[in-house]
Amino acid sequence: MDAEHDDAELRFLNYYRCDRCEHEWTDEWSCMCDDDCPECGARHMSPYKSDDLGEDAP
Ligand SMILES: [Zn+2]
Repeated sequence: MDAEHDDAELRFLNYYRCDRCEHEWTDEWSCMCDDDCPECGARHMSPYKSDDLGEDAP
């Protein structure tokens, strides 16, 4: 792990819906990346929507 790399900047709120069990959840990431379903563990679910939280960026 690279401790110098700043990956703690959470600026996107991603909305997910599982293709397998239809569970819906949200998560914050530094980019629009895939997530795993917390219900059934299905992997690499892509967000169907994303909100940008970093409104003060130039
Ligand atoms: Zn699921």
